[in-house]
Amino acid sequence: MIDRRREIGYPVQCGELLPATKEMYSIFPRGANLEELFDLDDSILAGSCSTVELISPGGRVYSSDFMSHSLDRRVFDKHLVSLAVEHGARVENGVSLTSIRDGVANTTIGEVKAKVIIGADGPNSLVARQAGLQRPSARYPAITCSAEGRFGDAVKMFFGSVAPGGYAWIIPKTSGANIGLGLNSRIHREQPSVVLRRFVDNLGCRVTDIALGFVPMSGPVASTVHGNVMLVGDAAGHTMASNGGGIPTAMIAGRLAGRVAREHVANGAPLSTYEEEWRRVMLKPLRRSLRTRRFADLFFPNDLMLGLAMGILGNRGLDRAIRCKRLFL
Ligand SMILES: Cc1cc2nc3c(=O)[nH]c(=O)nc-3n(C[C@H](O)[C@H](O)[C@H](O)COP(=O)(O)OP(=O)(O)OC[C@H]3O[C@@H](n4cnc5c(N)ncnc54)[C@H](O)[C@@H]3O)c2cc1C
Repeated sequence: MIDRRREIGYPVQCGELLPATKEMYSIFPRGANLEELFDLDDSILAGSCSTVELISPGGRVYSSDFMSHSLDRRVFDKHLVSLAVEHGARVENGVSLTSIRDGVANTTIGEVKAKVIIGADGPNSLVARQAGLQRPSARYPAITCSAEGRFGDAVKMFFGSVAPGGYAWIIPKTSGANIGLGLNSRIHREQPSVVLRRFVDNLGCRVTDIALGFVPMSGPVASTVHGNVMLVGDAAGHTMASNGGGIPTAMIAGRLAGRVAREHVANGAPLSTYEEEWRRVMLKPLRRSLRTRRFADLFFPNDLMLGLAMGILGNRGLDRAIRCKRLFL
């Protein structure tokens, strides 16, 4: 495994929210043995919440019983890498992929002749470009920071002009919170850092570790396998477009890709099995999530309309949106 970052998991470009395993089954009912991926030791968790509050532009609060954990990605990503190393992986930090020629990966430490190349290199995937695969067509800017203080015991999502076309979040931790926002730069031209500064100034808290990233918001790419290449996670557009969450999908797809790669190397199984498998488990929820985002796009430009739409959906409809279900029964 190569990663251009010198330190795995840092900077943290993430809200660090991970749904609890039982919620994961409600989102991905075809997911198998999700406990293996998501039942985490308490030492990895930075806090837990049992409620998500969605706050309309007018300040009305819609509540959903939704169990989630807060991670420290700087710790969590290292934990995942150490599991891979325990199982025989070799990891090179501070090493970049530069190109792929005839199935061979060129990197800043030389050529890597690989039987299979797995591109888990994020929304701007160079692996996808080099393999002639599509990248996610819509990538929204999202910005995050660490805040000191106490922030209650519910995850809060604020909608409206506070984060146009997206939402702002407060994800409490045992100590402090992850605060951030994502927005649609097509409908709002201000820099995300300016919008975030306004949001945290209103909260009156001190923040550190501000980091900007991009979230794929256009659903899965058309094809995730070509030649000896597979795409996983953000590179494949595996994010829930209605909420920007991509840790669960990257991990589910990552496990599938790993298994298929092993079968390919050991028994010549086709890599296309990976595409079939992730579609079986994740395509429906990801498509529904994209439909919800597109529906929300109709109302996002206008706070009054957005407030009305949230009122019509009510607690039940918004709960369905969080779980990537169909908005209307
Ligand atoms: C601000 C923000 C908040 C978010 N909040 C949440 C949240 O609360 N919950 C949630 O579930 N999801 C959240 N997401 C989405 C989530 O972070 C991603 O979906 C998830 O990290 C996807 O993992 P990944 O491995 O596909 O990509 P990434 O985590 O982006 O990892 C890609 C890796 O590839 C490396 N890389 C890239 N190019 C190269 C190259 N050429 N050579 C070598 N290495 C390379 C990078 O260094 C990086 O380490 C958020 C995203 C952002 C931007």
